[in-house]
Amino acid sequence: MRIDVITLFPDMFKGPLTESILDRAQKMELLELKFNDLREFGTGNYAQVDDSPYGGGAGMVITAPVLVEAIEAIEEKVKSEKLIVNSDPHRIYLSPRGERLTQEKVEGLAKDHEWLILVCGRYEGIDQRVIDGGWIDEEISIGDYVLTGGELPAAVLIDAVARQIPGVLGKDESAHEESFSESLDRKKEYPHYTRPEEFMGLKVPDVLLGGNHGEIDKWRKKNCK
Ligand code: SAM
Repeated sequence: MRIDVITLFPDMFKGPLTESILDRAQKMELLELKFNDLREFGTGNYAQVDDSPYGGGAGMVITAPVLVEAIEAIEEKVKSEKLIVNSDPHRIYLSPRGERLTQEKVEGLAKDHEWLILVCGRYEGIDQRVIDGGWIDEEISIGDYVLTGGELPAAVLIDAVARQIPGVLGKDESAHEESFSESLDRKKEYPHYTRPEEFMGLKVPDVLLGGNHGEIDKWRKKNCK
């Protein structure tokens, strides 16, 4: 899967997406991430990307011409260089106004799309005409609270989607039977224990020590929330 991110702060992604499983996924070429600096598409001497809102009020709005040019230029480059063949991008704007991100949604994004473009807003957000004009396919929110920008929501989405790509998780890191997965009826997962059997007077439930897999399965089902 290829994911192009459009952001004013590409360096914010260093760290969360360059360690551990996501680093390995990129080295194995299962995941290709590209952070595109929106400032490069800005206009004038100061590479302006935003302007004050019509109707007045505090804050700035990312302008439609700049953002649309960025989206179109990235699409064109990826297609002309054949970095992705036979696929159009699915373009997502991370926004508190969007549909709430769920595990089901994450699984769908990983299954249905080979290429995502993620638009990270800043300030008051983006000009609505970028959405209404068809340059955004859907708006996604990571929760009912407001962050300073779309970079952390984009990193959350990338992490969650990447671990659904076949081969990204090793066998010790399976996404099977995890919280909100279909195999657990979208419930929260059962609790886990490891050695020692007793820790400061707290014991591992007997059923998990007995080796009876039928009983263990029953206990686990009962202890999903
Ligand atoms: N004026 C916007 C509102 O009230 O809905 C908030 C803008 S916010 C300060 C700046 C940017 O952060 C947004 O354009 C969006 O890209 C991102 N953002 C903030 N909270 C988010 C959330 N919960 N989910 C997804 N993106 C979010």
